[in-house]
Amino acid sequence: MKYVSTRGADSAGVSSSEAIKRGLASDGGLYMPENIPTVDEAYIRDLATLPYPERCARILSLFLTDYTYEELLEDARGAYSEEKFVPSAAPISKLGDNKYMLELWHGPTSAFKDMALQIMPRLFVRALKKCGETREALILVATSGDTGKAALEGYKNVPGTKIKVFYPIDGVSSVQKRQMQAQDGDNVSVVGIVGNFDDAQTGVKNIFSDSECRERLNDRGVFLSSANSINWGRLVPQIVYYVSAYCDLMKEGAISYGDLLDVCVPTGNFGNIFAGFIAKRMGVPIGKLVCASNKNDVLTEFMESGRYNKKRVFHTTMSPSMDILISSNLERLLFVTLGSEKCAEYMRKLGAEGEYTLTCDELSLINESFVGYSTDEDECMETVARIYKSTHHLIDTHTSVAVSAAERYINDVKSTGAMLVVSTASPYKFAGDVYASLTGKKPEEDLDAPLLLEKLSGVDMPAPLRRVLSSEPRHTKVIDRTDMMAAVVEFALR
Ligand SMILES: *Cc1c(COP(=O)(O)O)cnc(C)c1O
Repeated sequence: MKYVSTRGADSAGVSSSEAIKRGLASDGGLYMPENIPTVDEAYIRDLATLPYPERCARILSLFLTDYTYEELLEDARGAYSEEKFVPSAAPISKLGDNKYMLELWHGPTSAFKDMALQIMPRLFVRALKKCGETREALILVATSGDTGKAALEGYKNVPGTKIKVFYPIDGVSSVQKRQMQAQDGDNVSVVGIVGNFDDAQTGVKNIFSDSECRERLNDRGVFLSSANSINWGRLVPQIVYYVSAYCDLMKEGAISYGDLLDVCVPTGNFGNIFAGFIAKRMGVPIGKLVCASNKNDVLTEFMESGRYNKKRVFHTTMSPSMDILISSNLERLLFVTLGSEKCAEYMRKLGAEGEYTLTCDELSLINESFVGYSTDEDECMETVARIYKSTHHLIDTHTSVAVSAAERYINDVKSTGAMLVVSTASPYKFAGDVYASLTGKKPEEDLDAPLLLEKLSGVDMPAPLRRVLSSEPRHTKVIDRTDMMAAVVEFALR
């Protein structure tokens, strides 16, 4: 299977390993398979008899056709082992009548990013070999929290790679900071940046676009790469858990094959929900994809009116992984539904004017699959408290936004079918806000919040998070933004 750019470049197509190695296409577009493979009832029934790593290898093999099944199975088994995902990779719990929750946060860092970042480094290293790349890859990440830690856990001790993460000292929670500062591994570096997320991100972008820096590294056999969610290698593993969830609900007797399953996803960069859309396009009986946003409601407006307008106030919320103005993977949806020409035109408009608007016909194509809802901060806290009281499920602030959206959707369309809410983080990762939702007050010390929440709720904290909280910080260096490039060169040549 060949991969093409959403904006039309590389129209002859590149292999999947080439797409994973490059990340971004030459015209700034994102790589997409030139067609989406389909599966039928027999395939899904067969898949339902297999454990998660096998399901993963089967589905990946439909997309990554220059990897062997054995390679993919080895990678999936390594990524989703029982030591790494406790009790398992993507378990489903029951929220209420016909309402289920897909829990994607049982991995090493307690956030759903692990589902992609545990396997992506393995696929990436194989891609380098397949493409004849002999240089060492230096992965650079600017993070506002979840991605940095998940990337560190994914790339630590991976031969042929090094990873350096910059986080803003004023822009991550204290639990997230401690998670990163306590990171182990021989090829990792974590540095705080004076400033906010934008400062860190701008610094990283500057390093990527500095040709002198790139040449210097190249002379020493090192090249720069990123781990962000526009890489196909990060997106494709996310398709698996949607198919897998359908299998599990079928096995449990919650649905019968053919029943349409609605899915609600707390959305930021549109990677997670887009993977659900691909699963639907493959033929998995998925109904509506409910796109849940917080107060940053750029996607809600888009789903309702067809207008994408990034010129708006940015809100800092208690679901920070969804605080976003430009949802990069939406470009892939435009490509699949409207084609590369239209997609390139709208992306040009977004760059030049900060907005674009779909025609009515184009919007109705999107609305065949998607509907959007946004949830404000009060409703988010109220939902955390209400769900805990009524079901004893402790949900995090991102999942809460999705539960609230799912409830409103069900009510609006008087749905009687099954609904799957995607749960993207352990409540303990955002313990301060979850605690405040339940008690009405924030803990005095943010780092105490997980233990206080555990005492209050009686729900166990994930073991890796408990270990991190009691471990000593190892990476405590803080530097100025202007020193980032020097720090990268020093680390690369070490
Ligand atoms: C990254 C993240 C999201 C958003 O996922 P996208 O794929 O960017 O839409 C939602 N919730 C949590 C907890 C996350 O870490």
